[in-house]
Amino acid sequence: MRSVIFSEHGDRDVIEYGEVPDPDPADDEVLVDVKAGALNHLDVWTRRGLPGIDLEMPHTPGSDAAGVVESVGADVDRFEAGDHVAVSAGVSCGSCEFCRDGDPTLCYRFQIIGEHLPGVHAERAAVPADNLVPVPDHVDWEIAGSASLVFQTAWRMLHTRADIEAGERVLVLGASGGVGHAAVQIADHAGCEVFATASSEEKLRHAEDCGADHVIDYEADDFAEEIAAMTDRRGVDVVVDHVGAATYPDSIASLARGGRLVTCGATTGPNPDAGLDRIFWNQLSVLGSTMGTPGEVDDVLELVWDGTFEPRIREVRPMSEADEAHRLLEDREGFGKVVVIPDSEF
Ligand SMILES: [Zn+2]
Repeated sequence: MRSVIFSEHGDRDVIEYGEVPDPDPADDEVLVDVKAGALNHLDVWTRRGLPGIDLEMPHTPGSDAAGVVESVGADVDRFEAGDHVAVSAGVSCGSCEFCRDGDPTLCYRFQIIGEHLPGVHAERAAVPADNLVPVPDHVDWEIAGSASLVFQTAWRMLHTRADIEAGERVLVLGASGGVGHAAVQIADHAGCEVFATASSEEKLRHAEDCGADHVIDYEADDFAEEIAAMTDRRGVDVVVDHVGAATYPDSIASLARGGRLVTCGATTGPNPDAGLDRIFWNQLSVLGSTMGTPGEVDDVLELVWDGTFEPRIREVRPMSEADEAHRLLEDREGFGKVVVIPDSEF
């Protein structure tokens, strides 16, 4: 079968759409005929190479995909051939103290399909049944293959970690990205007043369409000053920041007293000045978040399947153009998710 692969870390030119052996599912796995899968920024990091992660090569990338169950292993009773499924990429050990305590996202051995383990951007994938969720038949493949990673991440950030309440003011940075556009929708649905930043007029209009009440062009304006002006110098209750060092000082400065900054990534670097003076005096909280529990995944995907939330599709490409899909992410072109489809299905 054919699969997106790379045999060494590097720039986009290491990406190929090559021939690999058919997957051989274990007893607890499901063989999925892949119809569509979205990229995440994680795919870019994984391609470039992450410290401490030693991948078996060639590596198939991809943490998100949806497709049809072709066959199931002997121990699988949740699915049968013909079912529509989507991948939920977090893998936990099931036996450490945090898994036993009910939060597998804290697992000592937490791994992500596509990052630490072989991914799913191929014609077929063998996926543990625990990492699949059912998808109603009416949901489009592009939607089904785009929602899981970013919506579970944004859901946990806002509901579980930042514990948002109706009426609170929430600032979402980088609203055009996958997590950003999911966070805008989730905060809006929770009854929050949503502020969103993006880098062009077109992206700002998309952010408003996702539910943002106020938008800020961060290329043109200093977002901390804009937030101060828009909130009568009070600030916002929650900032969703996955940008990192470049935005952290302004994120902290944008928070109201008692506010919470929640982060799921640090694209521009992990080590900003901490700003401890503001943190203690204004009694701020800085909260980390990674992926979601199976219960959180079920809660948020239910709302995707029924149309409450909608992953926006920025571009759909055949898997043989996965390198171009990476470029769209790296150049921050467009709004929402970039999807790849097996060439045989395109
Ligand atoms: Zn564990």
